[in-house]
Amino acid sequence: MNRLCVFMGAQLGINPSYRNAVQELADTILKHRLTLVYGGARMGLMGQLANQVLEKNGKVIGVITEDFFQQGIAHPELTELCIVSSMSERKRKMAEMSDGFVALPGGLGTLEELFEILNAAKIGLHQKPVGLLNIDHYFNRLIEFIDQMVKKGFLMVEQKNILKVSENPADLIFTFLTLLNSSKRGESTVGWAK
Ligand code: AMP
Repeated sequence: MNRLCVFMGAQLGINPSYRNAVQELADTILKHRLTLVYGGARMGLMGQLANQVLEKNGKVIGVITEDFFQQGIAHPELTELCIVSSMSERKRKMAEMSDGFVALPGGLGTLEELFEILNAAKIGLHQKPVGLLNIDHYFNRLIEFIDQMVKKGFLMVEQKNILKVSENPADLIFTFLTLLNSSKRGESTVGWAK
């Protein structure tokens, strides 16, 4: 895995544990020498993660729309900033250039990005790992609702299992690396889109 895409809040959220998780994820990204791919903003958890990776000489690629760029939202010091014309082009570009996807706590934008990439895996458009960092139980009700989809017959359990849920950034990235290595060796990729 070379590039990890992270979806997360353009706000900080009220709970300091979200910021702590950002620091842990930054350390994990640096440890594995991954390039961070994200939405390119300078504020919220987004800005914090970019800053923490950049501070220790990590690489960060931001993908931002022309509109957001004109509004001065872009982080000014990224390794690379891609400016695109629409939100859908932005998601496509982040998806193409990344080898795995993680969602940290965030709002509607984060959920939209997570579910688009997760559904793409479900219908077999890609086989890249997708994970959810359930920091301080933030996503508990979302996870319960996904279970409800299975219970009520709208989602198969194998499809649900595509989404790797963890409370710990280092553990989640370890799971991604294990999945990618076993799929490289042609071993079974249980829980992946066929
Ligand atoms: P939200 O979770 O609603 O705060 O939205 C954050 C997610 O949506 C990020 O992963 C971004 O890719 C995208 N996004 C939403 N708002 C912005 C913004 N103002 N600047 C950059 N990206 C944003």
